[in-house]
This record gives sequence, structure tokens and C-alpha cells, in this order.
Amino acid sequence: MQPEYASLFKRACKACEQSYAPYSHFRVGAALLCEDGSVITGVNVENRSFGLTICAERNAIAAAITAGKTKFKALVIATPDAAYPVSPCGACRQVISEFMPASAPVIFGNTEDSYVTSTVAELMPHDALHDLSSGHAHDGPGHS
Ligand SMILES: [Zn+2]
Repeated sequence: MQPEYASLFKRACKACEQSYAPYSHFRVGAALLCEDGSVITGVNVENRSFGLTICAERNAIAAAITAGKTKFKALVIATPDAAYPVSPCGACRQVISEFMPASAPVIFGNTEDSYVTSTVAELMPHDALHDLSSGHAHDGPGHS
């Protein structure tokens, strides 16, 4: 893992200590690198009504937006309780694509030596809504 991402991975692992996962015991931490160099972390917050659980990635993004950050360079996700790297769920991919450029790196791993380096575009292919939100909808398929 590149040193910059390894540093973010450590922040994501540290954040896992705050994870609220009494039902799954599956801790997730996310570290979001903002364009200004600051790092905002998030953890999964479960609920006894399971559908209300909020993932670490979405909590990190919501906390960053709340703090006035709007541009992000990288997202690193740690799942230290897993035996392999666990990628963001579909809901998180949608939210990530709302706030990060298609080329932005997304790294997810269970350890610093067991990880996957991906991008927003790889996690969210054929993301026409991304083009729509950036004002390039007219260039998309279906228009001449
Ligand atoms: Zn998720």
C-alpha cells in the first residue's frame, strides 16, 4: 500500500474502535482524504432495526459535508474483522459517486497487506447520473 494510503488505512483502523456494531460484530472504518489535506473518518453505526444501519463510508462523507468539506481526493476503508478486503455496498457506491470524481481512488482492505485499489468509476460503471450532476448530461448516450 502506498504510504499515503497506508496512513489513511491506519486512521480507518483506529476509527474502528468507535464502531457501533453490537449485532454483527463487524467493524468498519473509513478515512476520507479531503482536498485541503484534512482527513475525516467514519464508522458503521448499526441499529436494532437492521435496515437503519449506516455504513462507515456514508458516515465519513456526511461528517465531511457537515464540516464544510466538499472536495475529496481518496477514500480508504478498513474491515479488520474480515478475512479478505470488503468492498463498499451498493448504497455507499451511489453516495461516493455523488461526491467524488470518477477517477478518485477507493482502497479497501482488511489489513495493510491485504487490500484492493479501485476507483469510483470501477465501483460505479456506466454512472450516467454522475454526468448528469456535473452538467454533462447532453453528452451522454441517447442524445445526438
Ligand atoms: Zn455501505
